[in-house]
Amino acid sequence: MVVNGYNGKILRVNLTTSSFKEESISDADARKYLGGSTLAAKYILEKVGAKTDPLSAENLLIFAVGPMTLNFASTSRYVVAAKSPLTGIWGEASSGGRFAHFMKRSGFDVIIFEGISKKPVYLWINEGKYELRDASGVWGKDSFETENLLLKETNPKASVACIGPAGERIAKLACVMNDNGRAAGRCGLGAVMGSKKLKAIVCFGTKQFKPLSMEKIEYVLTQLSASVGDMSTLGMDRFGTAMMLDMFWPVGDIPVKNWTIGLWEQENVPSAEIYAKIGGARMRETILKKRYACLGCPVGCGREVKIESGPFQMEGPGPEYETLGAFGSLCLNDNLASICKANELCNRYGLDTISVGATVAWAIEACEKGILSKADIGFELNWGDAEAIVKLTEMIAKGEGIGKLLSNGTVAAATELGQGLDLAVHVKKLELPMHDPRAFHSMAIQYATGNRGGAHVEGWSMMGEVGFMPAEFGVEFAPGRFESRGKALIAAKIQDFSTLANAATICLFVALPFSPTLIALLLNAITGWDLTAKELMKIGERGFNLKRGFNVRCGIRRKDDTLSPKMFKAVEKGGHAGQVPDLDKMLNDYYKLRRWTADGIPTKELLLDLDLPELAKELWG
Ligand code: SF4
Repeated sequence: MVVNGYNGKILRVNLTTSSFKEESISDADARKYLGGSTLAAKYILEKVGAKTDPLSAENLLIFAVGPMTLNFASTSRYVVAAKSPLTGIWGEASSGGRFAHFMKRSGFDVIIFEGISKKPVYLWINEGKYELRDASGVWGKDSFETENLLLKETNPKASVACIGPAGERIAKLACVMNDNGRAAGRCGLGAVMGSKKLKAIVCFGTKQFKPLSMEKIEYVLTQLSASVGDMSTLGMDRFGTAMMLDMFWPVGDIPVKNWTIGLWEQENVPSAEIYAKIGGARMRETILKKRYACLGCPVGCGREVKIESGPFQMEGPGPEYETLGAFGSLCLNDNLASICKANELCNRYGLDTISVGATVAWAIEACEKGILSKADIGFELNWGDAEAIVKLTEMIAKGEGIGKLLSNGTVAAATELGQGLDLAVHVKKLELPMHDPRAFHSMAIQYATGNRGGAHVEGWSMMGEVGFMPAEFGVEFAPGRFESRGKALIAAKIQDFSTLANAATICLFVALPFSPTLIALLLNAITGWDLTAKELMKIGERGFNLKRGFNVRCGIRRKDDTLSPKMFKAVEKGGHAGQVPDLDKMLNDYYKLRRWTADGIPTKELLLDLDLPELAKELWG
């Protein structure tokens, strides 16, 4: 029997043999793993080995939605998972838009690709029927053109997830794009898609989903109003995610000049004015055309913008907070139009804006330090030079000149050049997002132990430090930002909670103000289960440890749970002046709390407690 809220179906696609296999999701697996990235982790652990080349036929590429998708607001999110070609470990990315809804309506909760197609193909799923189609007509096209052409070829009402030219040429910063500018950005999963010669997935369906108890849903909805109210108070609807820039720059959250200084300064201009030049309020006043919302979300944090004149003309999706940080403060670039243009290039070619912006900032510093020269780049590349920043982004997008090397990220570039690794800021080769762990020390432990490396969506613990933390987490004191005490607990709980949200799948912006009790109520209303908040948090913990188990298989240990040297250098000015995290102390606390060994391996007792006997056997015999 299929659990209410699910299709209960997996589609396996072998691209080498062009064959398909349908499988069911058992009730037990649905309740144990929920869906999304946690269910994906189960399948990846079953098949993908320590020695599996992420770009080989043996790597799996998984698209997954969860039980909340289509059963509640703000749940149009899908997850992509695979062994990452950028990091060589667990890879995961998620995206909003419409695709998640249409994938689920088309009849499947999970799509698993293996093998490599001989020629470019796309998967077309229409009301539960599927076929691989020739994609040679869209191979080489950018993500926007690809979507338009494939919608014409299939059904204009369908939804497309695809790669751009960067994914086709297997750039390790390539991402998966959907719905005209939404991105499953991190970990280079667009390169996995490109290596399989899979250009796109197009889904259409009309299947309806309805929770079992609308009464319980009504109750949770009243709480959702409060949650959306929280987001509105923060300004997510009016200013988009860029409101975080306006809000958090004074505490030094947003990194500056490739993480080397703590405060953005210009002669005779107050810092507040400099940050404001690229903030959410300025975007709203000058270039905003309309708001954008993922299907069924009342928050609507997306932006549509238009640059009408000058060298950076564009029209389309506007930059999110992360992109503003990466191409803005990180590069000392206060030209908002140029950031929009760089964002557009990344969207078109299918690249992760966080890692690309970080790599551009790294290249600027490498030029400053004499590691790269004008001859290497082809032009002068200096801090704050908007035209040069966009030009280099275009070279990265097209794989031209030095752009080809840079499209594989900071660590690959520094390794190839044999210098500059100390300038790169990453965890496990994934460039850090735009939240400085020196500003909120829980972020240091969160980044260092993150399963996909330097990422925030797997546990945005700084939000816990500013109050978005349910009382049920049991953090009974208010630790200061720069304290180590209590940070392991905050990081672990928010990691488990975020893992849960990414399994369920609900947007973290909306889920963060929720409590595990409310999420349990919601899932019970959808499925008819009787999950408690405690059991639910255990599902989150199980998901986090499953992915850790995969990373342990790949050789990850305590030595890898660290930060780049720059994160241990204090800056003189700004919101975290003089502060560095005591990572060693927090790691000791964290491992103990997680029930991991001193070397960062989940203990046998923990794995058995989490009902993961196969993983316990693999790691402990
Ligand atoms: S809050 Fe923003 S990202 Fe999240 S579902 Fe709503 S529109 Fe999409």
